[in-house]
Amino acid sequence: MATDDLTADAAARRGWPRPFRPRIGARLGYLLHAGLATNRLYARVAAWLERRPRAYAAFTTVERVTKQELFGCRMCGQCALPATGYTCPMTCPKQLRNGPCGGVSASGGCEVHPELPCVWVVAYERSEQAGHGADLDLLQRPVDQRLRDQSSWVNYWQGRDEDLWTAADAEGARPLLHRELGLHPVGGVR
Ligand code: SF4
Repeated sequence: MATDDLTADAAARRGWPRPFRPRIGARLGYLLHAGLATNRLYARVAAWLERRPRAYAAFTTVERVTKQELFGCRMCGQCALPATGYTCPMTCPKQLRNGPCGGVSASGGCEVHPELPCVWVVAYERSEQAGHGADLDLLQRPVDQRLRDQSSWVNYWQGRDEDLWTAADAEGARPLLHRELGLHPVGGVR
């Protein structure tokens, strides 16, 4: 892709996402998630919702509004927030599930929107600050576009998120760590 195709104006014309800074801290994200963690009750609720299209649509609307406000959620249906310091990777203009890309600036700015911090730099910093820095070494599976606009909570409670990223200590299958690849952010983006 030519460099001049990566201007903010071109991105806006194409409807590409803009990097979004989460409105709640990562620690609060982990805390809230603990209350939503999969259990039998939630799995039954999820199954019930999937049998009732109207209830499912209403539930998905609540999820959409809530997560758009807090995280800039774009309803990919397979939520990566728990592994990214509660920073939505789908707000990256390139929608990278593993980042940052090679275009991130030395100060941590997005290549497409240089005035905004790269979502992956923000994810790294939030994860580190909350004691979850190792999460950024996990390799994320590509997005399955068939799940777009589905409820990621329902998918999560139904156990469909279990292989969204590599296991932290998968024997003999450890991905290259970010620090081994030299992918430490340079300079703080606050
Ligand atoms: S469901 Fe997808 S788009 Fe929404 S916050 Fe999670 S990762 Fe981002």
